[in-house]
Amino acid sequence: MISALVSVAGPSAGTALRKQVAALVIESVCLGFCYLLLYPLVNALFSDQPEDALIWLGWLGLMFTAYAILRFYTQLQGFRAAVDLIRVLFGRLGQQLTALPLGWFDATSSGRVGRLLSQGVMDVSSMPAHLLRPLVSALVTPLTVVLVMFVFDWRLASAALFTAPLAWWTYRWSSHLVKTTSRRTEASAVEAATRTVEFAQSQAVLRAFGHSEAVFGKLQKAFEAQWQSGRAQVFSTALGLSAFVLVIQLALTVVLFLGAYLALGGRIDAPQLIALLVLCVRYVEPLLGAAEVAGLVKVSQNSIQRMDELLCEPGLAEPVLPAEPQNWDLCFEHVRFGYGNTKVLEGVSFTARSRSTTAIVGPSGSGKTTILRLAARFWDPADGEVQVGGVDVRSIVTSDLLAQISIVFQDVYLFDGSIAENIRQGRPDATDAEVLQAARLARVNEIAARLPEGLDSDVGEGGSKLSGGERQRVSIARAILKDTPIVLLDEATSALDPINQLAIQEALTELTRDRTVVIVAHRLETIRNADEILFLENGVIAERGSHPELISLGGRYAEFWAKRERAANWRLLRDPQVTTNASRHLVSDNGR
Ligand code: ADP
Repeated sequence: MISALVSVAGPSAGTALRKQVAALVIESVCLGFCYLLLYPLVNALFSDQPEDALIWLGWLGLMFTAYAILRFYTQLQGFRAAVDLIRVLFGRLGQQLTALPLGWFDATSSGRVGRLLSQGVMDVSSMPAHLLRPLVSALVTPLTVVLVMFVFDWRLASAALFTAPLAWWTYRWSSHLVKTTSRRTEASAVEAATRTVEFAQSQAVLRAFGHSEAVFGKLQKAFEAQWQSGRAQVFSTALGLSAFVLVIQLALTVVLFLGAYLALGGRIDAPQLIALLVLCVRYVEPLLGAAEVAGLVKVSQNSIQRMDELLCEPGLAEPVLPAEPQNWDLCFEHVRFGYGNTKVLEGVSFTARSRSTTAIVGPSGSGKTTILRLAARFWDPADGEVQVGGVDVRSIVTSDLLAQISIVFQDVYLFDGSIAENIRQGRPDATDAEVLQAARLARVNEIAARLPEGLDSDVGEGGSKLSGGERQRVSIARAILKDTPIVLLDEATSALDPINQLAIQEALTELTRDRTVVIVAHRLETIRNADEILFLENGVIAERGSHPELISLGGRYAEFWAKRERAANWRLLRDPQVTTNASRHLVSDNGR
C-alpha cells in the first residue's frame, strides 16, 4: 500500500513519504522500548532493592524523551507531507487530464474525475497526516516488544506471538470487507453527484416539458443507493473493528492464563508476572489504534487505486520524431472509427484543400460531427490516417497541431469570467487592441454595448448570462483572435433570431476567409457556397462534388436538397377563408 502511495505521489513527494515512513519506524521502535523498560522497572519495584527502579526510570525517561522528539518531528513532517501531496496530486492529475484524448471525457468520467479531485485527494492526503502512524506503529511496536520479550520469557513471548497470525487474518478480512463496501459507496456517491448535476442542468427542459418525476425519480434512487451503501459501510467497519478487538483481547487472555499458570507452578515469580502483564496490556494498544483507523485506511487505499488507474490511462501518443506539416490541407485517408463497439465511420477519404470550404452534410447520426472530432484529434482513428499538410496528425506534437486549428462547435462553453477574458483565451498574449478588433469582427462589441461593463461584463458559469447566439459570437471572436489556418465549424442547427443569425454569418465570413474550412453545414446558403460537399450516409461518403454537380447527379444529395429546400420554404400564411389567428396553418410557397 505504501509503495502504491509512493507511486501515485511521484518521485519528489514519494521521497518525502519514504523518509516519513522511516522516521515512523524509528519512532515505533522507541515506543516499543518504552514499553519494554516497564518490565525491569516493575520488576525492580517489587524486588529486594526497589531503589534500582530509579535507574530504569532514568532510562525510561531518556527513551520517552527520544520518542517525544521523534513524534513531534513525524507529526510535523506528516502534515507537511500531506500539504505537499495535495499540491503534487493536483499537479499530476491536472497534467494527466490535459494529456488524455478529449473523447475520454464523457458524463461519467467527468463525475469520477470531479470526485477524485475533491474527496479523493483529501482521502489520499490523510495517509501521511493521520493514517501512516497507527499503521506503522501497529506493526513495528508489537514486533519490537515481542522480540525482546523472548529475552525475558520465551513462553509468554511465544503465547503473544501465537495470536499474531489470527490477528493478521482478522485484519485482512475486515479490511477486505470495508474495501468492498467503500467501493460501492464511492460508485453510488459518483452516481448521486452525476444525477444531481443532471437534475440541476435539466431544469429548463423539465419545466418546459414537465415529466420531472422521471428525472427526480432517478435522483431519488441514486440518493437512496448512496444512503444504503453508506449504512453498509458503517456496518462493515463496525463488524471488522469488533472482530479485530475480540482477537486482540483473546491474545491478552491467552497470555494472562499462561502467566497465571506459570506463576502458580512457581516457574516465574509474581513481580515478573506483573511486569510481563503490564507489558502485554501496553503492547496491544498500537494494534487497537490501527483497528480504529482501518476503515479510513481502506477508503484512502481505494482512492489511491482509482488515482493510479487515472494516471495510468493512456494519453494521446506523442510522436518520438515529430514532423512538420507542409501546408494546411486536411486529408482523411480510409478512416475507420467507432465509439466502443458502435461503428461510425467506414473508409472515409477526402481532402479539404487550403483556402477552400468543405461542407459535410447528411442525415443526423451519419457521423458528421465525428469527422470534425477526428480532425481535431479528440480521438485517433481505428484504421486509416488523418493528415495535415501530408503528415499523419499522430506525427505532429498535439499542442502544435491544436495551435493550428480553431474549433467552433454548437455547444459553446464559456468560462466564468468577462467577455474579454473569454475572447483572450484564443490567444492569451494578445493585446487589448487585438481583443477589441476580434470582438468587433465577430460583432461581440454590439453585445458588449448593451451591458453595463461592456467587454468586462461577466458571462456567468458556462456563459449562462448570454443567449445561445451571443455565446456563439463570443466563441467565434475567440477563434478569430486565435487566427489559425484550419477552421472546424459545426453550424448551429437551432433557429436563431434574425439579428443573431446575420451577425453570426458575418462573423463566420471573417473567421473562414482564406482558411482550410471544414464545416458541418445546415444552412442552405452555406452548403450551396461550399467548394466541395461531402454527402455522408451511415458513416460512408455516398456522394461528393460541388452543389451544381451533385444536383445534376440527381442522387441522394439532390433528394436531400429538395427536401431541405421545401422545408425552408414553409412559412406561416393566413388562410384567406378564415380570419382568426387560430386558423393559421403551415403552407409552402407553392401552396402544398
Ligand atoms: P452527426 O453529427 O452526423 O449527427 P455524430 O458524429 O454526432 O453524427 O454521431 C454519429 C454516431 O455516433 C451516432 O450514432 C451517435 O449516437 C454516436 N456517438 C456520437 N458521439 C458518441 C460518443 N461520445 N459515444 C458513443 N457514441 C457516440
